[in-house]
Amino acid sequence: MKRNLVVGAGFSGAVIARLIAEQLDEQVLVIDKKEHIAGNSYDYTDENGIKIHKYGSHIFHTNDEKVWNFIKRFTDFNTYMHKVVAVIDGIETTIPFNINTLYDVFPKSLAARLEEKLLKSFEYNKKVPILEFQKQADNDLKFLANYVYEKVFLHYTNKQWGNSPDEVDSAVTARVPVYISCDDRYFQDKYQGIPTGGYTKTVERILKHPNISVKLNIDYKDISGHFDRILYTGPIDEFFDYKYGELPYRSVNFKLETHNHEHYQSNAVVNYPCNYDFTRIHEYKYYLNDISSKTVIAKEYSEPFENGKNERYYPIPKPENTELYNKYLEDAQKLANVYFLGRLGDYKYYNMDQAIARAIELFEEIDK
Ligand code: FAD
Ligand code: UDP
Repeated sequence: MKRNLVVGAGFSGAVIARLIAEQLDEQVLVIDKKEHIAGNSYDYTDENGIKIHKYGSHIFHTNDEKVWNFIKRFTDFNTYMHKVVAVIDGIETTIPFNINTLYDVFPKSLAARLEEKLLKSFEYNKKVPILEFQKQADNDLKFLANYVYEKVFLHYTNKQWGNSPDEVDSAVTARVPVYISCDDRYFQDKYQGIPTGGYTKTVERILKHPNISVKLNIDYKDISGHFDRILYTGPIDEFFDYKYGELPYRSVNFKLETHNHEHYQSNAVVNYPCNYDFTRIHEYKYYLNDISSKTVIAKEYSEPFENGKNERYYPIPKPENTELYNKYLEDAQKLANVYFLGRLGDYKYYNMDQAIARAIELFEEIDK
């Protein structure tokens, strides 16, 4: 029987392990250097009965039927639809900036004028990236674009990436477009929600197969023995001993606080684009409606990734980083039995559904 080694027990590693184990009937050893499975989507229930997302809020959302059909085999989802609130000049309003936001932050007559002009310029429900939205001829809309750029994007992006919105890849800020709509949700995907038993339980079920064994607290560099295939979801630059240099990442520091009241804030996530050093505050009990007289929040501080000091959270999409990644990719493609995938293996800003889709796609290539 063929032996496979999967490096990393996050979604990418778990999904490819499962597909190889059940569809090819091959043995799979899954290792992770962390003490837990589920990678960045890891969650746990704390002493207050609150499910904490250790690496920040994770909301599952997808339009991909293949991904949805796969994940549904391992978990049910609640019908949570994510909304994000931002505090702008002391006013709580909706992010993405939409038509409702106009009425929260401006006097009614100005909001109505801006709404009318927006609806003349854009189709209803259009999502407009901020960098495109800035290209306005009309003076009122120019004012609006400058307002949104300054109040929503400029300082948040500086805190998050250490760069202004013009300096980061346009796809990054396009994730949260200006939305010509009254739909207050953060995502419009057909399928969205939180796994009812949590993410760790979901990944545990994906990994539960007679052909799969899992070993934690083990680094790839300490593994020996022959494997017919290696599926590597760790950082691709580390695999090649950083021979072309390190791929840059952003890291995050989550500072947890427990409060002795039922709720701390009005919503699961509240962004602070213009104030404080943290970008946002997460209040975890909202996701699964956990009942407790206490609440746990996390203040999210973005920081540069430093090897050995903190964790890799976000690949930084920039042309020079893509160029560096492509050098590693070229070397990777020369290896006959090693396959790279995942947010770290592919150096891509994947959401969970994209990581799962990539694992399914890679499996289909291997299975050809
Ligand atoms: P990871 O989860 O990073 O797993 C990789 C694993 O490999 C890790 O467990 C690591 O320990 C292990 N590993 C690395 N190197 C080695 C080695 N040498 N030896 C052994 N093991 C190794 N996605 C969404 O869809 N919705 C969200 O709301 C969302 N929110 C997010 C919020 C934050 C702050 C972050 C950082 C990400 C968020 N994501 C979200 C993205 C989501 O976390 C990823 O898409 C997903 O975790 C990717 O899974 P992965 O398996 O590719 O990588
Ligand atoms: N963003 C912003 N202000 C906000 C929310 C988002 O400037 O209030 C920008 C910022 O650059 C951020 C990007 O949009 O990194 C993507 O935001 P998203 O919420 O998708 O980031 P993630 O949840 O992946 O951290």
